[in-house]
Amino acid sequence: MVLASLHPLLVFAPKAREIAAFRLEIWPALLGTVLLIGLWSGVCTGLWRGFLNLPYQIWYRFHRLGMFSLVVLYALHVMNVTDDLKRGWPLYALLTALALYVALFIWVKGIKPRRLKSRGYTVAKVTGVGKDTHAVELSPRDGSVFRYAPGQFAFVTFQSKALPRERHPWTIASTPTKPDSLIFTIKSSGDFTALIGELEPGDTATIDGPYGLFSYLAHVPNSTRELIMIAGGVGITPMLSMLRYMSDRGDTRKVTLVWSNKTEADILHRDELESIEGKLEGLTVHHVLTRQKDYTGPSGRLDKNMLSDLLSACSQEACVFVCGPPPMMDTVCKALKQIGFSSRRIHTERFSI
Ligand SMILES: Cc1cc2nc3c(=O)[nH]c(=O)nc-3n(C[C@H](O)[C@H](O)[C@H](O)COP(=O)(O)OP(=O)(O)OC[C@H]3O[C@@H](n4cnc5c(N)ncnc54)[C@H](O)[C@@H]3O)c2cc1C
Repeated sequence: MVLASLHPLLVFAPKAREIAAFRLEIWPALLGTVLLIGLWSGVCTGLWRGFLNLPYQIWYRFHRLGMFSLVVLYALHVMNVTDDLKRGWPLYALLTALALYVALFIWVKGIKPRRLKSRGYTVAKVTGVGKDTHAVELSPRDGSVFRYAPGQFAFVTFQSKALPRERHPWTIASTPTKPDSLIFTIKSSGDFTALIGELEPGDTATIDGPYGLFSYLAHVPNSTRELIMIAGGVGITPMLSMLRYMSDRGDTRKVTLVWSNKTEADILHRDELESIEGKLEGLTVHHVLTRQKDYTGPSGRLDKNMLSDLLSACSQEACVFVCGPPPMMDTVCKALKQIGFSSRRIHTERFSI
């Protein structure tokens, strides 16, 4: 954005008077102005979509259409704005960039969706696992799931009568040690996720993934380094995947899980977590509740005092994973740094984009 905004100033400053007098023959330069406005709009609505109150799906459609149009207009602009790009290596560089874009477009819109569809999944089970939350188990039609690291996420598109055809990101909450299915734990947080409980066994899905680096295997592979996991609400899903994996692998390292929920009723997969706690000898779980008056354990927000207390027995060399609502993550990351954890060791996953 900075370079795109600066270049007309650098190129045209000497000719400012010429440009100020509007003439049709300078349309390529005027098109450049339209492009710059379009680019700024794309970046600003992308960064501040929440602040501008733009619903995700509407923004997403305009963003994709807008960015595609900008590339087409960009080609027209650079091919006509100057003679310098009409011959020799600048022309070849331009044509190569455009050819790469077209190839990428064909891959993303044509080839990749077909490949994903041919490796489709079927909904095997939908189970309620806590307040407004469902675990959706998907079985691959061709036998085994793709390789992934515990904690990674994927984009899922369901083909079901009950749901509109939208692509949403969810953490793969299951473990790679059980390659027969993928499980997503999905909390109702909007119009689409409110319908997840209406999925039926036999509905189909395409899955694009895995993505992301929120996994201890990505940061401390082949090591037994201590881990700290701090989750808020449904932000537990990547931690759950990592704990399920560690439990199946008989990992003995020290792990501290701090999990904040509003009330006890909001704790998901409670029985399973207790069973993992029984199996993983190095695991300590701290349940923190923010809105339950009769709770005798740690209550209130995860601030510096609370975390210093709960993590007092942990090494500052531990690898820390944080996932939860954005305000909680901001407070936790700030507190962790104040306590003495290096930002190098703090890894985060943001669910709201
Ligand atoms: C990497 C990642 C992993 C996630 N893992 C989980 C999980 O394991 N469990 C869980 O319950 N939730 C998870 N989420 C959040 C989940 O994607 C959103 O809650 C869900 O898409 C909201 O959809 P909605 O239409 O019901 O809500 P809306 O009210 O329409 O949207 C609420 C917010 O969710 C985001 N959102 C909406 N639609 C999309 C979309 N198609 N793609 C991306 N973001 C969108 C936007 O920030 C939006 O403001 C994850 C998000 C990300 C980015």
